[in-house]
Amino acid sequence: MDMATASKLRVAVIGAGVTGVLLGQGLKEVRQTMRRLWIKANVLQNGFEVTIYEQAASIADRFREWTFLIHWSLPRLQSVLPKRIADKLPSAYTNRFYAYQQEGERLPFYDGMTGRLLYLAPCTQMRRFSRAKLRQLCMEGLDVQWGKRFREMEMDDTNGPVTIHFEDGDTAVADLVIGADGSNSQVRRYLFGEGGRATPSGWTMCSGTVRYADSNIAQSLHEVHPVCSIAILEDGYLMAACKYLLGNTCAHTNREREVQEVIDPEDPKTFTFHIARWWRASSSEALAGELAVQQLKAQVLPACEPFRSAIDKIPSDCSSFVLSQLQYWRTTPWNSRNSRVLLAGDAAHSMLPSKTGLDSRSVRN
Ligand SMILES: Cc1cc2nc3c(=O)[nH]c(=O)nc-3n(C[C@H](O)[C@H](O)[C@H](O)COP(=O)(O)OP(=O)(O)OC[C@H]3O[C@@H](n4cnc5c(N)ncnc54)[C@H](O)[C@@H]3O)c2cc1C
Repeated sequence: MDMATASKLRVAVIGAGVTGVLLGQGLKEVRQTMRRLWIKANVLQNGFEVTIYEQAASIADRFREWTFLIHWSLPRLQSVLPKRIADKLPSAYTNRFYAYQQEGERLPFYDGMTGRLLYLAPCTQMRRFSRAKLRQLCMEGLDVQWGKRFREMEMDDTNGPVTIHFEDGDTAVADLVIGADGSNSQVRRYLFGEGGRATPSGWTMCSGTVRYADSNIAQSLHEVHPVCSIAILEDGYLMAACKYLLGNTCAHTNREREVQEVIDPEDPKTFTFHIARWWRASSSEALAGELAVQQLKAQVLPACEPFRSAIDKIPSDCSSFVLSQLQYWRTTPWNSRNSRVLLAGDAAHSMLPSKTGLDSRSVRN
């Protein structure tokens, strides 16, 4: 085929979570690198044409938000992004004012009953990100088609293109489809049928973001650790109290939930915290907002201060909280239909958030 007329390889990424947007940026980078290295390869010389299809109506249309920690994958994250975006990564940190050390960072784990420090887990190159801010930053320059919920796809038995069908009746054509549509991946369901369904774990998680009316709570939580602390409770339950200085909470609309800047990093009244609690229970239905907070507070909490108040003092109308049973999927090799369908991120390895490192794995994907 004539180089000039060779068409680009069309990549459709399903899902604009952290995995989807990093794949988008990474594939664009591959194009630039490969262009120099593989002059004779038509497909690579012409690069990847990446389109991301996301079911949400916009980036603000997201009920659940959280923060996450990455450590060992930081160099990968930096290298997969164009320099102009990688340079701005600190703007997506939860605590922009915290002077991260390259080495020597430790994540504290406490006995939640006594407050005794149990151990400091080594976390080289630790960074805690606001998921919302990281997504927004990494979307720069990408073609994201909003409101496109993947339903199914069809393809022939050769290497021909894939036709993707969306719930709204639209279709799209691609040479490669990457399912980055999270732990309940519909692309996975397409590949595996019922075997692609996530399995309930018997663990329930309630998580959300909160700004406490009482700044003493904020101050004491912040003093435990300025980025993140984890309390292990006697009954085997785990609570993570992770703080960040950016973010609006207890918002009543998605718009309000968008991140706001802190004016005074010295003022605990402006601190926002990401609180997550896990406990053993097979809750059948997901709860949100007031109902989720009610259920969270109704749980026995065998914890000392400040972890006790971190839960007790969540305003009852805090709408950002979501409670649901966690699910997982045991990764199984799939038939990629002549390398035309891939899975990545939580869609490919869906584990519980307590097994930290999922985002790190997404970065590696
Ligand atoms: C409370 C909490 C704390 C966590 N802490 C950490 C941590 O400290 N460290 C860490 O490494 N990991 C952590 N994780 C896990 C980590 O956040 C996830 O592994 C990671 O965000 C997964 O990203 P993803 O893009 O693969 O999936 P998702 O973030 O779920 O994104 C999937 C996207 O696909 C879209 N989508 C879904 N279905 C469709 C469809 N049919 N069509 C189109 N679009 C669709 C969704 O709307 C969504 O935007 C935590 C998770 C939680 C919940």
